[in-house]
Amino acid sequence: MKKQSKIQNPKSKIQRVCLTIAGLDPSGGAGIIADIKTFTAFGCFAAAAVTSLTFQNTTGVFGAVHQTAESVRGQVEPVFQDFTVSSVKTGMLPTREIIEEIARLARENKFSNFVVDPVVRSTSGFDLIDDEALQSLIEKLFPLSQIITPNLPEAERIARMKIGNEKDIEKAAKLMQSMGARNVLIKGGHFQSSKSKVQSPKSAKDFLFAGDERHIFADDWIETNATHGTGCILAAGIAANLAHGKNLIEAVGTAKNFVTKAIRRAPDLGRGHSPIDASHESAAGKSRVKIDRNFFF
Ligand code: PLP
Repeated sequence: MKKQSKIQNPKSKIQRVCLTIAGLDPSGGAGIIADIKTFTAFGCFAAAAVTSLTFQNTTGVFGAVHQTAESVRGQVEPVFQDFTVSSVKTGMLPTREIIEEIARLARENKFSNFVVDPVVRSTSGFDLIDDEALQSLIEKLFPLSQIITPNLPEAERIARMKIGNEKDIEKAAKLMQSMGARNVLIKGGHFQSSKSKVQSPKSAKDFLFAGDERHIFADDWIETNATHGTGCILAAGIAANLAHGKNLIEAVGTAKNFVTKAIRRAPDLGRGHSPIDASHESAAGKSRVKIDRNFFF
């Protein structure tokens, strides 16, 4: 009898598994749902572990029920037992217990391409982490990370300084590197275009400090309130591109371009800050992100 050959799916290719460990925003704009969409848009297989069930929509965050260290471990361990995970991204990590457990999981499972988004507070002003947990995030996860991705308010809170110009950004980045973070991406989106010395009206800049190099990523400034989830999506985009083997500069540039396009396509949903559209990565539209590289030490 003729031996039956194994049926091959002609479309099958190596799928990179990306894991997000983050909060659930049931309205879908931020947190794990945004991360899953982003991983999928970049052709990765999305896995997700929930750290907190938040109650929110585009107008604000109304509460949260956090997971325990045990339940986070219970979700993450089986994924690593079964899959080769190419990158891990963390988002909302609300308690010290959860953070310490993730640090243990990171060491045990040798997290690679570990992107830490130090989520502190929602746009609407809801604290997504307590002070004790933030300290533990700095001490335990910064040294294990490949890159951290604070926005300006997060960078100010972590570095304990006001940031008003590019010199301050550099100082805050150095401080965060001295806390153990190898690579620091400070996102400039919170500077008001009209008042800022950092963002000119035509440019939205993010600042990557990689070792002793500084790279400034600039794209068009889009005047919009459709910004819900932008931070999660940028960090998830970086994780997906690192999973594909891109270097840090390429990964950040590609993820930023994705976020800009997702803001342009934002579906204008809800009565508050609309989510953006992270559902697909279109080949259309060449990246307009300009990268300016120099040394900063
Ligand atoms: N909710 C969750 C679960 C998040 O992870 C985040 C950000 O990371 C937010 C809310 C805040 O999102 P935004 O500030 O974009 O509203």
